[in-house]
Amino acid sequence: ATPRRRLGVALVGLGYYSRDLLAPALQLTQHCYLAGIVTGSPDKIPHWQATYNIPERNVYHYGNMHELANNPDIDVVYVVTPTGLHQHFSVIAANAGKHVWCEKPMAMTASECQTIIDTCRKNKVQLTVGYRMQHEPNTRRLMAMAREKPYGNIRDIIAEAGYRSGSTSHHWRADPKLGGGALYDMGVYPLNAARYTSGEEPIAVSARQETQNPVYAQVGETTWFDLEFPSGAIAKCLTGYDRNLNTLRANCEKGWYELVPFQSYSNVQGRTSDGITLKPSPENQQARQMDNDALAIINNTAPLVPGENGKQDIVILEAVLKAITEKKKVRI
Ligand code: NDP
Repeated sequence: ATPRRRLGVALVGLGYYSRDLLAPALQLTQHCYLAGIVTGSPDKIPHWQATYNIPERNVYHYGNMHELANNPDIDVVYVVTPTGLHQHFSVIAANAGKHVWCEKPMAMTASECQTIIDTCRKNKVQLTVGYRMQHEPNTRRLMAMAREKPYGNIRDIIAEAGYRSGSTSHHWRADPKLGGGALYDMGVYPLNAARYTSGEEPIAVSARQETQNPVYAQVGETTWFDLEFPSGAIAKCLTGYDRNLNTLRANCEKGWYELVPFQSYSNVQGRTSDGITLKPSPENQQARQMDNDALAIINNTAPLVPGENGKQDIVILEAVLKAITEKKKVRI
């Protein structure tokens, strides 16, 4: 048999996550490779071309990105820009006939998410959201436990993700139009985790928000939100830019289990009330995610994290925002 071609991936937005995590991980993947770049910063281009051997024909800027349609080297466009621009670039990529990998959080509103989903469907390209945790082995074990219920029904879930930003200057994570605020940026980790840990979809949310650092005045710094599930389980979620948080725990009828840390790039590990240890996996998370997503395209199977999964988080996130504004419980 002829060996299968590896898929060519173009990264859109050469910031921190593309530079430090995705591009290095694309050197470890078996089913895809870094073939192209789309950037608004010409000064970044020589270094990327030299480091990753990217030919001139695979270098784009935001204005000519639609011309990817004529480039057979590129199979997948991975959108890694500020969140407020995910819809814009995902739509251009899908209309160019390229498969779309979109970073988390998927977009600003459920309606933007739906536009991405519809555009991908219309162009018959795959769409997946960059929820790397759902590919991580210990997290997958937790997801299986939602079905198997080894400790009986879940009573409550604690899901907390945040970091101390200490930022004193304005940047896109402080800009409401670009998707700023800890709730969008980090809050989707507890939100997504509450869903995959319970195996249920929440039916109601209550929430409150506090902001100390004036940089985050327009977007909110710390958010507490409780999700109620049909089974009666409750997820107590917390996210913030003012403290380091990285805990996921399920308290069940007959015991408990947890992953601490649960959303780090490595060393995701955990334990259970009866002494089972969930050891860290040595695999590179982003390489595993991108290989899984590439294989779904190659084999024409459903991706692990389809657009609908990313959209559902934004549906709930919008309910969290409403609960904060209206200061009352919101039904989903
Ligand atoms: P950065 O600010 O470091 O990089 C974003 C890049 O987007 C910029 O460098 C720039 O690239 C491009 N860009 C295009 N338009 C704008 C604009 N108006 N303002 C600022 N940048 C712009 O952000 P991150 O890399 O940290 O985050 C990017 C995305 O990745 C976000 O959606 C974030 O949520 C997600 N992310 C996911 C992580 C995960 O673990 N899954 C971890 C970290 C981030 P250029 O100069 O090339 O045009």
